[in-house]
Order: sequence, then structure tokens, then C-alpha cells
Amino acid sequence: MKITITGTPGTGKTTVAKILAERLSLPLYNLTGLIKEKNLYLGYDNKRDAFIVNTEKLKNFFENKKNFIAEGLIAHYIPSDVTVILRARPEVIISRLKERNYPPEKLKENAESERIAFCATEVFQNPPSPVIIHIDTTSRTPEEVANVIMEGISAGGLIEDVDWLEG
Ligand code: ADP
Ligand code: MG
Repeated sequence: MKITITGTPGTGKTTVAKILAERLSLPLYNLTGLIKEKNLYLGYDNKRDAFIVNTEKLKNFFENKKNFIAEGLIAHYIPSDVTVILRARPEVIISRLKERNYPPEKLKENAESERIAFCATEVFQNPPSPVIIHIDTTSRTPEEVANVIMEGISAGGLIEDVDWLEG
């Protein structure tokens, strides 16, 4: 099974992906590490302090792989069987990311991306797989998030209502 896990930084992708990879015995790929390691980038954006992903190379890397979990901000660019979108209340994103020593503008930028549902909108506008799982992690432990994902896979999809614009 091919599972991708996407979402704003701080939604818990890396944490929950590790739990799932173990439970399902699937090889796990952290995209930030992979992109650097395998040179899957076009260049480096100094202003944003991030690699500019070569999406063609990224897709090629996964093309012949049948079983994996790939987690990262752009995981939904990779064709898969299941796409998981993790969400979290924007204030919670900020508190979860505090220990990363991000500059305040980067914290704000991530909270804002989450508030406007940047990743989720990309997925819903152009679903990259037949099974979509969209869940709110705000009041769940990583174990609980993993349980909900497993239920979503069994059910053939699970879409929770999440709207941070409603206030
Ligand atoms: P991402 O990979 O999406 O950026 P991480 O998995 O690195 O997110 O999690 C960011 C921080 O939030 C970490 O300190 C992690 O321990 C914590 N965290 C992750 N998931 C949860 C959760 N469901 N509840 C509370 N804290 C969480
Ligand atoms: Mg991560």
C-alpha cells in the first residue's frame, strides 16, 4: 500500500507516520530528508530557507515502489493509494513548532497556511488518490491520530469537517 501524509508543519506528520509505518510494516520516507539526500531539488530558496522541490524527480523516485509511507509538506504530489491530510488549530501549530526555534515570521506563515487550509485545498481540488483521509489532530494524541487513519483506510476514506475561518 502507498500512503502519503501531508499537512502544514506542526500537524504531526513525522510523528504519526512513524507509528503507522511500524504498525503496517511499511518503509517510511521523510520527504525533507529524502529531497536533500537524493538531490530531488531544483535549487535552494535562501529567502524561504528551503529547497525548491523537483516534483518530476520526486515522482520518479516513487514510481516503481509498491509499498511506502511518504510524509512531508508536498507528499500529496506523489501518486498513492491513500492520501492523509493532517490538520491542527493554527494556535496549536504555533505552540507545537515553538521548540523548533523558527523565527516568528515563519511561525506566523505556517499558522496562516493552516488557517486558510493551503494543503487541504490542494488535495481536495486535485485528489491524488482514491482514498482521502482528512483529520483534525488538535485534541488527539499521535496514537489516536494513527487509530483514526487506520479506521479511515478500512472505511475507504474519512473526511472530518475542519474550518479554522469559522472562528
Ligand atoms: P510535522 O512533521 O507535521 O511538522 P511533527 O510530527 O514533527 O510535525 O510534530 C511537531 C511537534 O508536535 C512535535 O513536537 C510533536 O511531538 C508534536 N505533536 C505531533 N503530533 C501531536 C499530537 N497529535 N498532539 C500533540 N502534539 C503532537
Ligand atoms: Mg515533519
